Amino acid sequence: MNIAASIIQTLHRIHRQKTDLEGQLARGPKAVAAAQAQLKHAMDHFQMVRDQLTHAKMEADSKQLQMLEREGKIHKWEGMLNVSKENREYQALKDQIAADAQANAVLSDEILELLERIDDTQEQLGKAEQQVAVQRENLATVEQRVASRREILKTELARVLGELSQEEQKLSGEFKREYERLIAAMGEDAMAELDDNCCSGCCKSLTPMLLDRLLMKMSVTCPSCGRIVYKGESA
Ligand SMILES: [Zn+2]
Repeated sequence: MNIAASIIQTLHRIHRQKTDLEGQLARGPKAVAAAQAQLKHAMDHFQMVRDQLTHAKMEADSKQLQMLEREGKIHKWEGMLNVSKENREYQALKDQIAADAQANAVLSDEILELLERIDDTQEQLGKAEQQVAVQRENLATVEQRVASRREILKTELARVLGELSQEEQKLSGEFKREYERLIAAMGEDAMAELDDNCCSGCCKSLTPMLLDRLLMKMSVTCPSCGRIVYKGESA
């Protein structure tokens, strides 16, 4: 393999840039999806609180109506009580009025509790609505940021891919086929810089013979992991 280390080092740098840009491009839609999920969560919560409020209001209305009906009955019985002539009838009416008045007192407590709960729920609903607005605005911000970033990233990626194909023209023959096979399988990890006499891909030491070739600024294949190893300019 007689490929200059400088070419491999350049290719490695370009492949790392390509991976980074592709990663950033892939993260954009994920960020949008996450913001969408947060908005949906806020909307679901708002819907749930609104349902609770509707339910509590209906329950309060129904209990208030029940209380009014019972008050009407009590009023009617009190009228009958005033004109009652029979002792037994009088007592029965008094008992009936006492029982219904007691039932209405219980109902009145329940209504008060419900009205308190309605107030609390109303407050929660306001907060839930605010949260929906916050998440809606967040989604719009994320969408806009991702869209504008996407244009920059795509332009940058196109530039890097152009640079890559230009650099790859320096490769030929069997090395080129091997390089392409490795890139397809490992991406930027197909190449590794020499690090203190070791392949930085798998951390195994290289033989003196391979190190000699690396010193001559040639690239070698790591016998352990198969990566193309090169000695970096600054190494
Ligand atoms: Zn290795």
